[in-house]
Amino acid sequence: MDEYDYVIVGAGTAGCVLANRLTEDGKTTVLLLEAGGSDLSIWIQMPIGYGRTFFDRRINWMYDTEPVEALGGRRSYWPRGKVVGGSGSINAMVYVRGQPHDFDDWKAAGNPGWGWDDVLPFFKKSEDFDWHSAYHGRGGPQHVTDISPHVHPICHSFIESAESLGFAATSDFNGGQPDGVGLYQINTRGGWRASTANAFLHPALKRKTLKLETKALVSRVLFEGRRATGVEYTRRGATHRVKARREVILSGGAINSPQLLMLSGIGDPAQLKAMGIEPLVDARAVGRNLQDHLAVSYFYKARTATLNDILYPALGKAMAGMRYLFDRAGPLSMSVNQSGGFVRSDPAQPHVDLQLYFSPVSYTKTPLAARKLLNPDPFSAFLLSHNPCRPTSRGHLALASPDPSVHPLIQPNYLSSAHDIETVLAGNRLLRRIAGARPLADIILEEIIPGLAVDGDEALLDDFRQRADTVYHPTSTCIMGSHAAQSVVDHRLRVHGVDGLRVIDASIFPNITSGNTNAPTVMVAEKGASMIVEDARQMA
Ligand SMILES: Cc1cc2nc3c(=O)[nH]c(=O)nc-3n(C[C@H](O)[C@H](O)[C@H](O)COP(=O)(O)OP(=O)(O)OC[C@H]3O[C@@H](n4cnc5c(N)ncnc54)[C@H](O)[C@@H]3O)c2cc1C
Repeated sequence: MDEYDYVIVGAGTAGCVLANRLTEDGKTTVLLLEAGGSDLSIWIQMPIGYGRTFFDRRINWMYDTEPVEALGGRRSYWPRGKVVGGSGSINAMVYVRGQPHDFDDWKAAGNPGWGWDDVLPFFKKSEDFDWHSAYHGRGGPQHVTDISPHVHPICHSFIESAESLGFAATSDFNGGQPDGVGLYQINTRGGWRASTANAFLHPALKRKTLKLETKALVSRVLFEGRRATGVEYTRRGATHRVKARREVILSGGAINSPQLLMLSGIGDPAQLKAMGIEPLVDARAVGRNLQDHLAVSYFYKARTATLNDILYPALGKAMAGMRYLFDRAGPLSMSVNQSGGFVRSDPAQPHVDLQLYFSPVSYTKTPLAARKLLNPDPFSAFLLSHNPCRPTSRGHLALASPDPSVHPLIQPNYLSSAHDIETVLAGNRLLRRIAGARPLADIILEEIIPGLAVDGDEALLDDFRQRADTVYHPTSTCIMGSHAAQSVVDHRLRVHGVDGLRVIDASIFPNITSGNTNAPTVMVAEKGASMIVEDARQMA
């Protein structure tokens, strides 16, 4: 059996950070196992390629949830990256850390060292930002781009309309004023996607101490007694075993890390036995507590040009392509999500409870069921969207089969709390208020979906149930906490009940953060890596 100091499962957002940080000393050996293949593809690296990778089975796990009662029995389509860089190779690149109280809540839930003041240095450590600010890092591996000089001008109309309703504008959601309306920052560098694969992994692969194996599906963690000693994986039809001298680290993401724990005998004993798996640790929190953001978009036909006018016509596409080719700029170098906000649905709310998106592009003609390329509409239009940013609904995940290649059963339980329904009602009303405020109102020709005939709380909630969908932020299926019965890992990300095994990815979030989940996952990996290095020093 091959032997390494650490074996990391999953070269996704978190796994790439860990692989880099753990091999920084030039001595520690790491094997990084990734179920998917290489990320050397123009559709991954060029930001606008998002529309292509969204339904590409070669690089995407393409999950479907179980039917969701509150969505009228609809299933939700959940893309997740199955490729080097993981979901960070197919995401929309929006860089949002979340609100300070998100992390203070992590700490208050029994996790010392995870409050906002504790985690801010780890956000900054990973970051290379465009300008100096007390809240941002410079010189770190991952570039964060301030897109303000490049956004579509119509984004400013959204901001002005929201301001006219009394919402404050902010110049930096990741700075001193994380709430309000403004422009998103994104993870790109020089017009290319700045995934953690590009920022952390590829430069580190020059080190002889780091090995990456792609197309390697890990099927279970190996144990001697209750100590994790390695993993078993399949590659090109053959089964391999590899030994971890110090630790095994699961970074398979919010779906796969709990699946792998269960396949390894860590989970609800009754469920495991029903699958023919011998239970090793009674850990009923594995796969529970699933959280996600659920959003709805309102579609508006515009009197002025939007990105559709560039990205739909063949000539427009060709010109945008030329521009990208020559100076890596223009719409192909950008995220489709360019502006938005974090706002209180009611000034009496203690914290922001809604995230807003304004996208200067629309896709009414991409039936999800057809699983085709996301292609912009052939007319000028834009999207206005909202989602409750701290939903309280929690879902769960269970094995469908003991076969590691079979997708688990995912039940998000969306809208199962009164809080979430109240927030959705407020969000629906707010979108209409923003669209009715000037200058946006002057630009709007027509609300095409849902259309003004759909009105009133009941009808708009019904519309939400029919159309709302994930913003691709599943978290919390292996939550961090101090009680072994209610959580999966402790505050140093060690799996309760065993030795030599940690989970480090978006699955450990005790609660979902108020915004997009990639930046907090990078932070979790930075902090996780520093704890592993610290622990190894103490053992030496
Ligand atoms: C379409 C889409 C758009 C998004 N947009 C944004 C955005 O704009 N901004 C933002 O902040 N967040 C966004 N997100 C969410 C963000 O990308 C994720 O929260 C983040 O990538 C999670 O990182 P992770 O390390 O937990 O998991 P992942 O990045 O998903 O990594 C898990 C990796 O493990 C591998 N793996 C899993 N199981 C195994 C196994 N058994 N053996 C070997 N390898 C395995 C997977 O193939 C994958 O590469 C988006 C996500 C998607 C899918």
